[in-house]
Amino acid sequence: MAFEGLADRLQSTMKKITGKGKVSEQDVKDMTREVRLALLEADVNFKVVKDLVKRIKERAVGQEVMESLTPGQQVIKVVREELTELMGGEQSTVAVADNPPTVIMMVGLQGAGKTTTGGKLANYLRKKHNRSPLLAAADVYRPAAVDQLETVGEQLDIPVFSKGTNADPVAIAREAVEQAKAEHNDYVIIDTAGRLHVDEDLMAELEQIKAAVTPDETFLVVDSMTGQDAVNVAESFNDQLAVSGVVLTKLDGDTRGGAALSIRAVTDTPIKFAGMGEKLDQLEAFQPEGMASRILG
Ligand code: GDP
Repeated sequence: MAFEGLADRLQSTMKKITGKGKVSEQDVKDMTREVRLALLEADVNFKVVKDLVKRIKERAVGQEVMESLTPGQQVIKVVREELTELMGGEQSTVAVADNPPTVIMMVGLQGAGKTTTGGKLANYLRKKHNRSPLLAAADVYRPAAVDQLETVGEQLDIPVFSKGTNADPVAIAREAVEQAKAEHNDYVIIDTAGRLHVDEDLMAELEQIKAAVTPDETFLVVDSMTGQDAVNVAESFNDQLAVSGVVLTKLDGDTRGGAALSIRAVTDTPIKFAGMGEKLDQLEAFQPEGMASRILG
Protein backbone atom coordinates (compact mmCIF):
# COMPACT_ATOMS: atom_id res chain seq x y z
CA MET A 1 0.00 0.00 0.00
CA ALA A 2 1.14 3.56 -0.71
CA PHE A 3 2.76 5.44 2.16
CA GLU A 4 2.83 2.30 4.28
CA GLY A 5 6.24 2.77 5.88
CA LEU A 6 5.68 6.49 6.37
CA ALA A 7 2.21 5.95 7.83
CA ASP A 8 3.48 3.31 10.27
CA ARG A 9 6.29 5.51 11.47
CA LEU A 10 4.34 8.71 11.79
CA GLN A 11 1.44 7.01 13.48
CA SER A 12 3.68 5.46 16.10
CA THR A 13 5.36 8.83 16.62
CA MET A 14 1.99 10.51 17.08
CA LYS A 15 0.82 7.80 19.46
CA LYS A 16 3.59 8.76 21.85
CA ILE A 17 2.35 12.31 22.05
CA THR A 18 -1.41 12.04 21.67
CA GLY A 19 -2.39 11.40 25.28
CA LYS A 20 -0.05 13.94 26.77
CA GLY A 21 -1.70 16.50 29.01
CA LYS A 22 1.41 18.62 28.77
CA VAL A 23 3.79 18.81 25.85
CA SER A 24 7.26 20.09 26.64
CA GLU A 25 9.64 21.66 24.20
CA GLN A 26 11.69 18.47 24.46
CA ASP A 27 8.62 16.41 23.46
CA VAL A 28 8.18 18.56 20.37
CA LYS A 29 11.86 18.23 19.56
CA ASP A 30 11.71 14.45 19.85
CA MET A 31 8.56 14.31 17.77
CA THR A 32 9.90 16.50 14.97
CA ARG A 33 13.13 14.53 14.88
CA GLU A 34 11.15 11.36 14.25
CA VAL A 35 8.94 13.09 11.68
CA ARG A 36 12.05 14.30 9.90
CA LEU A 37 13.58 10.84 9.74
CA ALA A 38 10.33 9.24 8.61
CA LEU A 39 9.92 11.76 5.78
CA LEU A 40 13.49 11.39 4.62
CA GLU A 41 13.10 7.64 4.66
CA ALA A 42 9.99 8.07 2.50
CA ASP A 43 12.17 9.86 -0.04
CA VAL A 44 10.73 13.31 0.52
CA ASN A 45 12.92 16.13 -0.80
CA PHE A 46 15.49 17.22 1.78
CA LYS A 47 14.66 20.92 1.68
CA VAL A 48 10.95 20.24 1.81
CA VAL A 49 11.49 18.17 4.95
CA LYS A 50 13.63 20.84 6.53
CA ASP A 51 11.08 23.61 5.94
CA LEU A 52 8.16 21.44 7.04
CA VAL A 53 9.80 20.37 10.27
CA LYS A 54 10.71 23.97 11.04
CA ARG A 55 7.10 25.07 10.59
CA ILE A 56 5.75 22.21 12.69
CA LYS A 57 8.22 22.99 15.45
CA GLU A 58 7.38 26.70 15.50
CA ARG A 59 3.66 26.12 15.53
CA ALA A 60 3.72 23.21 17.98
CA VAL A 61 5.76 25.07 20.55
CA GLY A 62 3.99 28.39 20.31
CA GLN A 63 0.49 27.09 19.64
CA GLU A 64 -2.70 28.64 20.90
CA VAL A 65 -4.65 26.56 23.40
CA MET A 66 -7.83 24.90 22.24
CA GLU A 67 -9.98 23.62 25.02
CA SER A 68 -11.48 20.72 23.11
CA LEU A 69 -8.11 19.06 22.47
CA THR A 70 -5.36 17.81 24.74
CA PRO A 71 -1.99 19.46 24.13
CA GLY A 72 -0.85 16.21 22.52
CA GLN A 73 -3.79 16.24 20.13
CA GLN A 74 -3.09 19.85 19.27
CA VAL A 75 0.42 18.98 18.21
CA ILE A 76 -0.93 16.23 15.98
CA LYS A 77 -3.41 18.68 14.49
CA VAL A 78 -0.50 20.92 13.56
CA VAL A 79 1.28 18.02 11.84
CA ARG A 80 -1.91 17.10 9.96
CA GLU A 81 -2.48 20.67 8.79
CA GLU A 82 1.10 21.08 7.68
CA LEU A 83 1.08 17.82 5.71
CA THR A 84 -2.19 18.87 4.08
CA GLU A 85 -0.76 22.27 3.21
CA LEU A 86 2.37 20.63 1.83
CA MET A 87 0.24 18.71 -0.64
CA GLY A 88 -1.61 21.84 -1.71
CA GLY A 89 -4.25 22.47 0.93
CA GLU A 90 -7.50 22.67 -0.97
CA GLN A 91 -8.55 20.22 -3.62
CA SER A 92 -7.98 21.88 -6.98
CA THR A 93 -10.31 22.09 -9.95
CA VAL A 94 -10.05 21.70 -13.73
CA ALA A 95 -10.28 24.74 -16.00
CA VAL A 96 -13.35 25.47 -18.07
CA ALA A 97 -12.68 27.66 -21.11
CA ASP A 98 -14.97 30.62 -21.80
CA ASN A 99 -15.07 29.54 -25.41
CA PRO A 100 -15.25 25.76 -25.65
CA PRO A 101 -13.53 23.48 -26.17
CA THR A 102 -11.37 23.50 -23.08
CA VAL A 103 -8.01 22.15 -24.22
CA ILE A 104 -5.99 19.91 -21.94
CA MET A 105 -2.54 18.82 -22.99
CA MET A 106 -1.12 15.71 -21.35
CA VAL A 107 2.67 15.60 -21.05
CA GLY A 108 5.12 13.30 -19.35
CA LEU A 109 7.76 10.66 -19.77
CA GLN A 110 7.08 7.36 -21.46
CA GLY A 111 5.59 4.82 -19.13
CA ALA A 112 4.34 7.38 -16.61
CA GLY A 113 0.77 6.56 -17.58
CA LYS A 114 0.02 9.48 -19.88
CA THR A 115 -2.12 7.68 -22.44
CA THR A 116 -4.09 5.76 -19.83
CA THR A 117 -4.57 8.93 -17.79
CA GLY A 118 -5.84 10.84 -20.82
CA GLY A 119 -8.57 8.22 -21.20
CA LYS A 120 -9.27 8.22 -17.47
CA LEU A 121 -9.58 11.99 -17.47
CA ALA A 122 -12.00 11.96 -20.40
CA ASN A 123 -14.08 9.38 -18.55
CA TYR A 124 -13.91 11.43 -15.36
CA LEU A 125 -15.03 14.64 -17.07
CA ARG A 126 -17.91 12.86 -18.75
CA LYS A 127 -19.03 11.08 -15.60
CA LYS A 128 -18.52 13.75 -12.95
CA HIS A 129 -19.05 16.91 -14.98
CA ASN A 130 -21.33 15.66 -17.73
CA ARG A 131 -18.86 16.74 -20.41
CA SER A 132 -18.37 15.43 -23.90
CA PRO A 133 -14.62 15.08 -24.46
CA LEU A 134 -12.58 14.32 -27.54
CA LEU A 135 -9.25 12.52 -27.20
CA ALA A 136 -6.45 13.41 -29.60
CA ALA A 137 -3.62 11.04 -30.49
CA ALA A 138 -0.54 13.24 -30.94
CA ASP A 139 2.01 10.71 -29.66
CA VAL A 140 3.18 9.57 -33.08
CA TYR A 141 6.55 8.12 -32.01
CA ARG A 142 5.92 5.44 -29.46
CA PRO A 143 4.96 2.34 -31.36
CA ALA A 144 1.30 1.58 -30.76
CA ALA A 145 0.55 4.73 -28.75
CA VAL A 146 -2.07 5.78 -31.30
CA ASP A 147 -3.61 2.29 -31.29
CA GLN A 148 -3.57 2.30 -27.51
CA LEU A 149 -5.48 5.57 -27.32
CA GLU A 150 -7.97 4.34 -29.93
CA THR A 151 -8.55 1.21 -27.87
CA VAL A 152 -9.07 3.32 -24.77
CA GLY A 153 -11.56 5.46 -26.72
CA GLU A 154 -13.44 2.36 -27.86
CA GLN A 155 -13.60 0.97 -24.35
CA LEU A 156 -15.03 4.21 -23.06
CA ASP A 157 -17.09 5.04 -26.12
CA ILE A 158 -15.31 8.40 -26.34
CA PRO A 159 -14.21 9.69 -29.77
CA VAL A 160 -10.51 9.76 -30.65
CA PHE A 161 -9.04 12.14 -33.22
CA SER A 162 -6.13 10.45 -34.96
CA LYS A 163 -4.15 10.74 -38.16
CA GLY A 164 -2.02 7.67 -37.68
CA THR A 165 1.68 7.84 -36.98
CA ASN A 166 2.90 9.69 -40.06
CA ALA A 167 1.33 13.03 -39.30
CA ASP A 168 2.74 16.12 -37.65
CA PRO A 169 1.80 16.25 -33.95
CA VAL A 170 1.26 20.01 -34.07
CA ALA A 171 -1.18 19.63 -36.96
CA ILE A 172 -2.94 16.77 -35.16
CA ALA A 173 -3.44 18.90 -32.08
CA ARG A 174 -4.68 21.87 -34.07
CA GLU A 175 -7.08 19.81 -36.18
CA ALA A 176 -8.37 17.99 -33.12
CA VAL A 177 -9.41 21.32 -31.62
CA GLU A 178 -11.11 22.26 -34.90
CA GLN A 179 -12.98 18.97 -34.95
CA ALA A 180 -14.05 19.42 -31.34
CA LYS A 181 -15.51 22.82 -32.24
CA ALA A 182 -17.35 21.35 -35.19
CA GLU A 183 -18.65 18.34 -33.27
CA HIS A 184 -19.42 20.28 -30.08
CA ASN A 185 -17.01 18.42 -27.86
CA ASP A 186 -16.42 20.69 -24.90
CA TYR A 187 -13.05 19.21 -23.91
CA VAL A 188 -10.09 18.11 -26.01
CA ILE A 189 -7.50 15.99 -24.26
CA ILE A 190 -4.30 15.76 -26.24
CA ASP A 191 -2.00 12.80 -25.68
CA THR A 192 1.53 13.88 -26.56
CA ALA A 193 4.77 11.99 -27.03
CA GLY A 194 6.95 10.98 -24.14
CA ARG A 195 10.55 9.84 -24.08
CA LEU A 196 12.51 7.79 -21.63
CA HIS A 197 14.29 10.95 -20.48
CA VAL A 198 13.62 14.65 -20.67
CA ASP A 199 15.31 15.84 -23.88
CA GLU A 200 15.39 18.95 -26.04
CA ASP A 201 13.53 17.47 -29.01
CA LEU A 202 10.69 16.39 -26.79
CA MET A 203 10.45 19.77 -25.13
CA ALA A 204 10.66 21.64 -28.42
CA GLU A 205 7.79 19.63 -29.84
CA LEU A 206 5.66 20.11 -26.75
CA GLU A 207 6.33 23.84 -26.84
CA GLN A 208 5.19 23.93 -30.46
CA ILE A 209 1.98 22.10 -29.66
CA LYS A 210 1.41 24.39 -26.73
CA ALA A 211 1.93 27.47 -28.88
CA ALA A 212 -0.41 26.12 -31.56
CA VAL A 213 -3.39 25.28 -29.36
CA THR A 214 -2.78 27.39 -26.20
CA PRO A 215 -4.14 24.76 -23.82
CA ASP A 216 -6.21 25.80 -20.81
CA GLU A 217 -4.44 23.12 -18.80
CA THR A 218 -1.11 21.40 -19.25
CA PHE A 219 -1.12 18.32 -17.08
CA LEU A 220 2.12 16.59 -16.29
CA VAL A 221 1.68 12.88 -15.66
CA VAL A 222 4.29 11.42 -13.33
CA ASP A 223 4.76 7.98 -11.87
CA SER A 224 4.62 8.28 -8.09
CA MET A 225 6.72 5.12 -7.76
CA THR A 226 9.76 7.01 -9.06
CA GLY A 227 10.06 9.25 -5.99
CA GLN A 228 12.53 12.11 -6.32
CA ASP A 229 13.02 11.35 -10.03
CA ALA A 230 9.39 12.31 -10.48
CA VAL A 231 10.11 15.58 -8.72
CA ASN A 232 13.12 16.28 -10.95
CA VAL A 233 11.08 15.48 -14.04
CA ALA A 234 8.37 17.82 -12.81
CA GLU A 235 10.89 20.61 -12.34
CA SER A 236 12.22 20.21 -15.90
CA PHE A 237 8.79 20.12 -17.48
CA ASN A 238 7.59 23.02 -15.42
CA ASP A 239 10.59 25.17 -16.29
CA GLN A 240 9.99 24.71 -19.99
CA LEU A 241 6.25 24.34 -20.30
CA ALA A 242 4.71 26.05 -17.27
CA VAL A 243 2.69 23.03 -16.27
CA SER A 244 -0.68 23.87 -14.68
CA GLY A 245 -1.19 20.64 -12.79
CA VAL A 246 0.31 17.28 -11.95
CA VAL A 247 -1.32 13.88 -12.14
CA LEU A 248 0.34 11.34 -9.88
CA THR A 249 -0.13 7.85 -11.21
CA LYS A 250 0.26 4.47 -9.53
CA LEU A 251 -0.69 5.70 -6.09
CA ASP A 252 -2.31 2.29 -5.72
CA GLY A 253 1.19 0.80 -5.67
CA ASP A 254 3.57 0.76 -2.75
CA THR A 255 5.09 4.17 -3.35
CA ARG A 256 6.88 5.52 -0.30
CA GLY A 257 5.35 8.95 -0.72
CA GLY A 258 8.29 11.13 -1.73
CA ALA A 259 6.76 12.39 -4.96
CA ALA A 260 3.34 13.10 -3.48
CA LEU A 261 4.82 15.03 -0.59
CA SER A 262 7.51 16.95 -2.49
CA ILE A 263 6.15 17.88 -5.89
CA ARG A 264 3.85 20.68 -4.84
CA ALA A 265 6.43 22.44 -2.70
CA VAL A 266 9.32 22.01 -5.16
CA THR A 267 7.45 22.99 -8.33
CA ASP A 268 4.68 25.15 -6.89
CA THR A 269 2.29 23.24 -9.12
CA PRO A 270 -0.89 21.69 -7.75
CA ILE A 271 -1.46 17.95 -7.81
CA LYS A 272 -4.81 17.67 -9.54
CA PHE A 273 -5.46 13.96 -9.84
CA ALA A 274 -4.27 10.62 -8.55
CA GLY A 275 -4.20 7.42 -10.60
CA MET A 276 -5.37 4.59 -8.36
CA GLY A 277 -5.12 1.60 -10.68
CA GLU A 278 -4.91 0.44 -14.28
CA LYS A 279 -8.64 0.55 -14.93
CA LEU A 280 -10.10 3.53 -16.72
CA ASP A 281 -12.35 4.54 -13.85
CA GLN A 282 -9.47 4.55 -11.37
CA LEU A 283 -8.73 8.26 -11.36
CA GLU A 284 -9.52 10.42 -8.36
CA ALA A 285 -9.40 14.14 -7.71
CA PHE A 286 -6.35 14.58 -5.50
CA GLN A 287 -7.39 15.45 -1.97
CA PRO A 288 -4.57 16.75 0.20
CA GLU A 289 -6.54 16.39 3.41
CA GLY A 290 -7.59 12.83 2.63
CA MET A 291 -4.01 11.97 1.78
CA ALA A 292 -2.77 13.44 5.07
CA SER A 293 -5.38 11.40 6.92
CA ARG A 294 -4.27 8.31 5.11
CA ILE A 295 -0.74 8.96 6.33
CA LEU A 296 -1.57 9.95 9.90
CA GLY A 297 -4.47 7.57 10.39
P1 GDP B 1 2.54 6.37 -21.25
O1 GDP B 1 3.73 5.77 -21.92
O2 GDP B 1 2.92 7.48 -20.33
O3 GDP B 1 1.44 6.77 -22.18
O4 GDP B 1 1.98 5.24 -20.26
P2 GDP B 1 0.72 4.26 -20.37
O5 GDP B 1 -0.54 5.02 -20.29
O6 GDP B 1 0.91 3.34 -21.51
O7 GDP B 1 0.88 3.49 -18.98
C1 GDP B 1 2.01 2.71 -18.67
C2 GDP B 1 1.58 1.57 -17.75
O8 GDP B 1 1.20 2.10 -16.47
C3 GDP B 1 0.37 0.80 -18.25
O9 GDP B 1 0.58 -0.56 -17.98
C4 GDP B 1 -0.77 1.36 -17.41
O10 GDP B 1 -1.82 0.43 -17.25
C5 GDP B 1 -0.07 1.62 -16.11
N1 GDP B 1 -0.75 2.63 -15.28
C6 GDP B 1 -1.10 3.90 -15.62
N2 GDP B 1 -1.66 4.54 -14.59
C7 GDP B 1 -1.69 3.67 -13.56
C8 GDP B 1 -2.14 3.73 -12.18
O11 GDP B 1 -2.64 4.75 -11.69
N3 GDP B 1 -1.98 2.61 -11.44
C9 GDP B 1 -1.41 1.46 -11.94
N4 GDP B 1 -1.29 0.42 -11.14
N5 GDP B 1 -0.97 1.38 -13.20
C10 GDP B 1 -1.11 2.45 -14.00
